[in-house]
Amino acid sequence: MELMKAAVFRGPGTIEIEERKKPVTRAGEAVIRVTTTTICGTDVHIVKGEYPVKPGLILGHEPVGIIESLGDGNPAARRTHPREGARAFHQSTNQRVM
Ligand SMILES: [Zn+2]
Repeated sequence: MELMKAAVFRGPGTIEIEERKKPVTRAGEAVIRVTTTTICGTDVHIVKGEYPVKPGLILGHEPVGIIESLGDGNPAARRTHPREGARAFHQSTNQRVM
């Protein structure tokens, strides 16, 4: 089992870096190796305890990274022809492959 690092919300004012099981690529999905992520206003509200979030949530939802693997039938593949090793980023409402 491969592991990855994750910034995990543990409660208001507390974030811990933990090891989590690395996801397996399924049909219609891609696994992105995150190289950078932002801390956005939503993350700040979560850490301050201003949003009703359960402890255990992984923070950082606007990542930049490299496509590590593509599952069969990924709908993005039909539009943009992504390949493993290509750069990708995710915004709250959009996904992009470069
Ligand atoms: Zn955000």
